Amino acid sequence: QAKRNGRQSYRHYSAEMNAQVTARTMLRESLMYALEKEQFELVFQPQVSTLDGRIHGIEALLRWHHPTAGTVSPAVFIPVLEDSGLIVEVSLWILRTACAQRMAWADILDDSVTMAVNLSARQFSDELICKHIQDVISDTGIPARWLEVEVTESTVIEDIDKGRRILEDLHKLGIRTAMDDFGTGYSALAYLKQLPLDVLKIDRLFVANLANDTKDQAIARAIIGLAHELGMTLVAEGVETHEQYGLLSSMGCELIQGYLFSRPIPAIDFAKLALGQPLMNVR
Ligand code: C2E
Ligand code: MG
Ligand code: MG
Ligand code: MG
Repeated sequence: QAKRNGRQSYRHYSAEMNAQVTARTMLRESLMYALEKEQFELVFQPQVSTLDGRIHGIEALLRWHHPTAGTVSPAVFIPVLEDSGLIVEVSLWILRTACAQRMAWADILDDSVTMAVNLSARQFSDELICKHIQDVISDTGIPARWLEVEVTESTVIEDIDKGRRILEDLHKLGIRTAMDDFGTGYSALAYLKQLPLDVLKIDRLFVANLANDTKDQAIARAIIGLAHELGMTLVAEGVETHEQYGLLSSMGCELIQGYLFSRPIPAIDFAKLALGQPLMNVR
């Protein structure tokens, strides 16, 4: 595009790129100190069972409270953490904090409740990932079955053999594995058979218009049926309305995650939420 339109727009394009590079450099510099300045926080979102209305899972999500810019979206700063390699150290902090939090909630949560942590692509390409996770498990004393790792299709498919090996190793430790954002990536069905996955998370893209779009309903129903045939548990992401909940529940989706029950919230608020269970009265 820039080339075809000649010099003028090339210069324009280039200035824009410079601005982007500068913004990234500034971001990276402030991210370097974010850990030690304790600007990171984990927030927690419940995954609620359609069978009993109780919390059966939790997803830990990262927040960065920048002193002047306010709270920055992970969609913006995680790629910068990845490019700069800072993600490795931050990820360890995320794992340790999430596991310690789950342990602290041992008395207020049902024994089956899992704590899911997102693994970045960079982290997943690190051969040390299994050792890191093992260290966190032994340091925090968390039972492995309480820990769940979420990966995306693109993360695993980049190197499918290595991806399978890592997931198998994690599985052997007793950790649960989840495929995040399912349906938005390659959605190559072959790997579903090859990978040891316990959980499939339907992306909120298919949930958003579920009530009005019969095609989205067909896709959701197909994903749920397929995952069940393969022995996986389903989590629907981005559920905001009772209507979406009702449809997904009638399709047999086990777990519901979304603003309908709660936004991702700080630990202290999550504890209050957990004490008010069940979050939904199931007939
Ligand atoms: P994700 O793992 O798919 O997380 C779900 C995202 O959907 C979260 O956005 C969550 O706040 C949002 N969400 C949940 N329920 C609803 C809903 O009902 N409606 C809508 N519109 N959104 C909902 P968030 O926290 O901004 O995170 C965005 C992405 O950043 C995550 O997508 C994940 O890929 C990445 N991320 C977040 N925390 C971490 C982390 O600790 N480590 C890594 N590697 N990635 C993370
Ligand atoms: Mg996730
Ligand atoms: Mg997701
Ligand atoms: Mg996502």
